[in-house]
Amino acid sequence: MTKIRIATTSLAGCFGCHTSFLDMDERLVELLEHVEFDRSPLNDIKHCGPCDIGLVEGGLCNADNVHVLREFRANCRVLVAVGACAINGGIPAMRNHFGLGACLEESYLNGIGVEDPQIPDDAELPLLLDKVHPIHEVVRVDYYLPGCPPSPEGFLSVLGDLLEGREPMLPKKLLHYD
Ligand code: SF4
Repeated sequence: MTKIRIATTSLAGCFGCHTSFLDMDERLVELLEHVEFDRSPLNDIKHCGPCDIGLVEGGLCNADNVHVLREFRANCRVLVAVGACAINGGIPAMRNHFGLGACLEESYLNGIGVEDPQIPDDAELPLLLDKVHPIHEVVRVDYYLPGCPPSPEGFLSVLGDLLEGREPMLPKKLLHYD
């Protein structure tokens, strides 16, 4: 039986959406009869190859996020924005109320508990974007799975529809925007 290939990533997110995905517990065993994983924090594969479905948690806060997202869009037939941070920027986008310089100063120079104040500038650190962006502002998104995080049942509903070749249609009881 050919399995559906899924890639997942967490950009500017907290991994809470991935944790909720794993909260499907024993239902994951049944799901694995139908799917296999490409790039994902679940298996630590670092690059996305050709896939059927890409699940993207988190918005875009730095240049590396943009690079990973573009790699997902180029390789995934269907791209799903998972959770509030991917859909509208979520909690990381709260920094958009302030300038990037003010955020860095508060975090690394003047904030409570800061010791040895200095703003990190290692060349390997990805360049921060001025604002945090939802992923649809950079690539085309096919479907949205709202929630903070979406419930395991939400993941199963969307993946079940896609596995059956249907348009994902979340039942009203699974549709929430917390
Ligand atoms: S939507 Fe909620 S759970 Fe998911 S990455 Fe954002 S803050 Fe974390």
